[in-house]
Amino acid sequence: MNLLILTLVLLVALGITLYHRLSLLVTTLTVAAILVLYSLQMSIPYVHWVVFLAIFIPLNLKPVRQIISGKLLKVFKGIMPTISDTEQEALDAGTVWWEAEVFGGKPNWKRLHKVPPAKLSKEEQAYLDGPVEELCKMIDDWTISEYDRDMPPKMWEYIKKNGFFSFIIPKEYGGLGFSSYAQSQVLTKINSCSATVGSIVSVPNSLGPAELLLHYGTEEQKKHYLPRLASGEEVPCFALTAVEAGSDAGAIPDKGIICKGDWNGEEVLGMRLTWNKRYITLAPVATLLGLAFKLYDPDGLLGDEEDLGITCALIPTDTPGVNFGRRHHPISTPFQNGPTTGKDVFMPLDYIIGGSKNAGIGWRMLVDCLSAGRAISLPSGATGGSKAVAYTTGAYARIRKQFKVPVGYMEGVMEALARIAGKTYLIDAVRTFTAAGIDTGEKPSVASAIVKCHTTNMSREIAVDGMDVHGGKAIIMGPKNYMAKAYQSAPISITVEGANILTRSLIIYGQGSIRCHPYVLKEIAATQNPDTKQAVKDFDKALFAHVGFAASNKIRTFWLGLTGSRLVFKPKSDFTGRYYQQLTRFSSTLAFLSDVTMGVLGGELKRREMISGRLGDMLSYMYIASSVLKFYEDKGRPAHDREIVQWSLDYCLHQTQMAADGVLRNFPISWMGKLLRIVVFPLGMPVSAPSDKIQRKVARQLQEPGAMREELTHGMFKTPAEFNNAAKVDRALRMQLEIEPLVKKIATTLGVKPDNHQVVIFAEQAKNEDIITNDEYNLIIEAEKARLDIINVDDFETEEMVHEKI
Ligand SMILES: Cc1cc2nc3c(=O)[nH]c(=O)nc-3n(C[C@H](O)[C@H](O)[C@H](O)COP(=O)(O)OP(=O)(O)OC[C@H]3O[C@@H](n4cnc5c(N)ncnc54)[C@H](O)[C@@H]3O)c2cc1C
Repeated sequence: MNLLILTLVLLVALGITLYHRLSLLVTTLTVAAILVLYSLQMSIPYVHWVVFLAIFIPLNLKPVRQIISGKLLKVFKGIMPTISDTEQEALDAGTVWWEAEVFGGKPNWKRLHKVPPAKLSKEEQAYLDGPVEELCKMIDDWTISEYDRDMPPKMWEYIKKNGFFSFIIPKEYGGLGFSSYAQSQVLTKINSCSATVGSIVSVPNSLGPAELLLHYGTEEQKKHYLPRLASGEEVPCFALTAVEAGSDAGAIPDKGIICKGDWNGEEVLGMRLTWNKRYITLAPVATLLGLAFKLYDPDGLLGDEEDLGITCALIPTDTPGVNFGRRHHPISTPFQNGPTTGKDVFMPLDYIIGGSKNAGIGWRMLVDCLSAGRAISLPSGATGGSKAVAYTTGAYARIRKQFKVPVGYMEGVMEALARIAGKTYLIDAVRTFTAAGIDTGEKPSVASAIVKCHTTNMSREIAVDGMDVHGGKAIIMGPKNYMAKAYQSAPISITVEGANILTRSLIIYGQGSIRCHPYVLKEIAATQNPDTKQAVKDFDKALFAHVGFAASNKIRTFWLGLTGSRLVFKPKSDFTGRYYQQLTRFSSTLAFLSDVTMGVLGGELKRREMISGRLGDMLSYMYIASSVLKFYEDKGRPAHDREIVQWSLDYCLHQTQMAADGVLRNFPISWMGKLLRIVVFPLGMPVSAPSDKIQRKVARQLQEPGAMREELTHGMFKTPAEFNNAAKVDRALRMQLEIEPLVKKIATTLGVKPDNHQVVIFAEQAKNEDIITNDEYNLIIEAEKARLDIINVDDFETEEMVHEKI
């Protein structure tokens, strides 16, 4: 009996040290101390000491351990797929940030709360309230997208003159030098009016000539181009995508050959470029073409290397041989986008960004600069679009009545409204949090992929729900239709800057598992190290730490599952405390499942995208959920946010849980999946999707002009203006709410229950019978006019609808 107790004590002690991730030395001393104490009290069988010495002595003696590690390193080298230079550059790009905490199994919540809240400077706020507000007032999206298929010239002038192309350019070069959060706020506001104008403004402020020049340009190039880009004198575009190379951008066939040639009457060392690019935003109107191509030096004019690799150059579009100007017609959002070609176009080497020393490092330049930009432009577009859908759909659902009740009071519609509101909150939270991180100097490559992929996906889902709630109103095109554009244009942001299927299933987890894992990158580095002695040392250190980490995650996952994570420290004592506990639990689950899956599948995991996509979803939804907690905290935990925060967190946790369930159900070795389920879900699956009660509350709040609705849509363009449909819908909502008591009074006094079209008729009768005053009658007339103005759709003469050719 005593021996059974001893064994149990030893196992519990081991479990505790592993759970708390105590060091190997502490674990060894703890086990040794228990054995010594027991030996002093009673005789214990040798087997306990033998097992202890057999395990812990080799583990603590490095030379002995390294013999094992050396052998394992050889096995690892054999099974590890070779990492190409392009893959290595992608892996090295950017930094890892909060996503690594989530991946690591034991998030340090203090670190989350220490991230400084995103905020605007006075100057940035003034810009939003001034030039951005003015621009939004000018936007007539219907005319831009259906008739002019471009911004009017005065709007082009306005954006160039007011620095809309210069957010990322520092002040010393004539730019606005805005923070990432400020850029995000500006783009959110513009995109809430028009995705077309939003795209035009986004591109010069994303990955392109300015960003590349800032990080890699020569001082001369910076001084020449940056002020001209800031003032709009130069319009940039950046061309990477080729006909046969979309997602696989590293496979571009466009090439440059180093050679001598004539340049302004002199023979100079240069390159002869041939390219055929498509889908290039702003290319038809660009004056400065950023071009990615593969550079070759067959005659050894630069050195010994023939295949130099991907290179980026800046080419003035008036260079003879540069073809541009023709346009593509992107779905419903006709921003300037088109192909560009060139054949054997000669130019000097100093067209390369950073000069000839940067020949061949173009891929690194691109992936490095992509990590921050990807988290700003497209997520801000998703934020602006989603806020506009939430604002208008909430109001429309309340003023549109069928069966004599607002459609928004019907539970089926409420589900859609709750999803619209909840996902808008998620998008807002995650883009704000990530922008705040970037403003502290991070360039989080995995987080930026998460944010790009999930905000654009969610905003498309929001648009689909918005369409359904509006019914026919959203289907009939015309200036009164404020919904359809969000729906039609959604695939653009899904596709660009890393198409979402690829990003979700390959990049997020593919990069995340290596970059965010505390040991995998170190193990890989050791396998690539030609210095065998050092490689064994490094591998040994990483491998044994990894083993401890994996064992700890297994114990933690099982224990947190058994206790429902209720014993975990809650950083906050309100209702959010429970969510922190659940996230800690799922973080351990992800760390545990990751190690087991990587161990079972090895390099094959790269091709098993259905599994890696689900593991990526776990990481993504926990990252997004963390951002909600932070967002709510930074807002000062307003009471009116409680239900929407609950919806958002329930949604994220449920998605995380179902992704884990999917991994287990489809685990490559099915019996192992069943065993893993016992560790992961010992008492079954713990979380549910947002409850009906929460959905009803959130849906109601979205339909009332209260604090939740206003804050959820804060930052979009709400000012009443000629073309601002969102402000018109909100006005109609407010007026309807104002007349509702009057209509009720009329109905009760006259003993009628008016249909929608009878309100005005009965109001007239009520006025005549002195049930309501003249002013009240006028208010009803005006409110009904405002409502009908929203509910009505456009119609046209056939001639008006006929476009010329397209
Ligand atoms: C409106 C618009 C503007 C653009 N602007 C620019 C620009 O300014 N500059 C520029 O260089 N490019 C630009 N692009 C190009 C854009 O970046 C590419 O469209 C994008 O990289 C995807 O390439 P593709 O369209 O050829 O799709 P494909 O690469 O053919 O992909 C098709 C599908 O396969 C999926 N897929 C591909 N590989 C994998 C994988 N390994 N695992 C899982 N799924 C995979 C993709 O996710 C996608 O769903 C623009 C595109 C559009 C439509």
